[in-house]
Amino acid sequence: MPHWLNGQAQIRSGNVLQDVFNPATGEVTRKVQLATSDEVNEAVASAKQAFPGWTETPPIRRARIMNRFLALLNERKDELAAIITREHGKVFSDAQGEVMRGIDIVEFACGIPQLLKGDYTDQVSTGIDNWTLRQPLGVVAGVTPFNFPCMVPCWMFPVAIACGNTFVLKPSERDPSAAIFMAELMAEAGLPAGVFNVVHGDRLAVEALLDHDDVKALSFVGSTPIAHGLYRRGAQLGKRVQALGGAKNHMVVMPDADLDLAVDALIGSAYGSAGERCMAISVAVLVGDVADRIMPRLIERTKALKIKDGMEADAEMGPIVTRQALERIEGYVALGEREGASLLVDGRGLKVPGRENGFFTGGTLFDHVTPSMRIYQEEIFGPVLSCVRVKDLAQAVALINAHEFGNGVACFTSDGQVAREFSRQIEVGMVGINVPIPVPMAWHGFGGWKRSLFGDMHAYGEEGVRFYTRQKSVMQRWASSIPKGPEFVMPTAK
Ligand code: NAD
Repeated sequence: MPHWLNGQAQIRSGNVLQDVFNPATGEVTRKVQLATSDEVNEAVASAKQAFPGWTETPPIRRARIMNRFLALLNERKDELAAIITREHGKVFSDAQGEVMRGIDIVEFACGIPQLLKGDYTDQVSTGIDNWTLRQPLGVVAGVTPFNFPCMVPCWMFPVAIACGNTFVLKPSERDPSAAIFMAELMAEAGLPAGVFNVVHGDRLAVEALLDHDDVKALSFVGSTPIAHGLYRRGAQLGKRVQALGGAKNHMVVMPDADLDLAVDALIGSAYGSAGERCMAISVAVLVGDVADRIMPRLIERTKALKIKDGMEADAEMGPIVTRQALERIEGYVALGEREGASLLVDGRGLKVPGRENGFFTGGTLFDHVTPSMRIYQEEIFGPVLSCVRVKDLAQAVALINAHEFGNGVACFTSDGQVAREFSRQIEVGMVGINVPIPVPMAWHGFGGWKRSLFGDMHAYGEEGVRFYTRQKSVMQRWASSIPKGPEFVMPTAK
């Protein structure tokens, strides 16, 4: 898998090659190059060279290229979804959904002339006008996780590039092909060489990017320890960084909820994409007698999950991304047992016929999980649902607000007042009322609270435009209104 530098796929000799797997079969399907700092420097140099021409290109012309990219993505979206399934493992229909959510943001970026419109005040003082505009930052970088190899890069580069920046993407080395596919489409859409670059790599490449003097801002999405470390390092360097981290998303089920809806929502959001979503529900908070009423149904549905190669049409859940991740997840199941949670469905050791070497585990269901357990506190990032029993809404809210993460949350209820109070009091960035995975639409922006996001601005939407631009204020006066002689007092409106 080559890098994408200066408008072309580029192989560089001398750097480390890492295996990329098809997680459904366990086979190595390709090798990815891990960039040295020389390759990172080359990518940044290519982006720097492209910046003056790109930033001078009128926003409407940038938007037209984005529109062509949008058309190509729509034409080729199933090819891209198949690439994702083969490297990530998620089922094909889910990969199609991911691509659509990426496409939404490209559509948003096509509106960039409107989004970049400034503010103007005529006559702030006699003969003086004042306006503000937003200008791009220069070369900006994005570092993305394995779990959304199309959608998460699309949170970043379409908006950054439409704003007039040039971009270096460092996608996950575990599923690198989607990024190169999109770079090819951007080139086909007419994007000048160097405006969008892709370097593959690991920690070394990320640190080389962040430390590079010519990289003005970094967007990161991944696990919390790395997000926090990069945010701190960026702050020390005086750079703009938005770093989205991990999650532990709760779904509260109130006694008055529609329980059919709640069971469907729990099963889909806990086990969809094998729980490898930052918005997956990993904790069910069951209020009052709800646990006794729904547990038999959760057990039955968890056992009935159709777990297969994600390319099979009826698959509901695919494999885990790597063998290491599978071992980590199954290690948490063993830990939960040791900690004293009730293991109602044990997904460990699943073998899928015909795919015996694939990285599969089944859905796991725990009941009687308590806040002192590590399986409650830590992000497992796999198909493991922990049920916590509480007596009322106040206890549910207190539990969730005490957690270190605050990415997504849901509340299932039929009471409008409960829904209103819950969404006001909960200390979480994205809230769903009878919606288990409330990923905001492209024009709203995505971001968690607490240790799920380090930085001031959310990804994409108008927050994204603000992140990738800086404000400038211009005040002007022309000769006929300029008073004679120096003014020594602070200017005020006259
Ligand atoms: P990860 O943190 O292991 O890797 C993310 C990126 O960082 C990859 O590109 C990786 O190459 C790079 N990286 C790895 N080690 C690094 C290091 N030491 N220094 C600098 N960069 C490094 O995450 P992952 O396993 O790819 O993805 C899963 C994680 O991402 C989960 O924690 C999940 O919650 C989180 N995630 C969060 C969001 C969100 O919006 N908050 C969205 C998707 C995923």
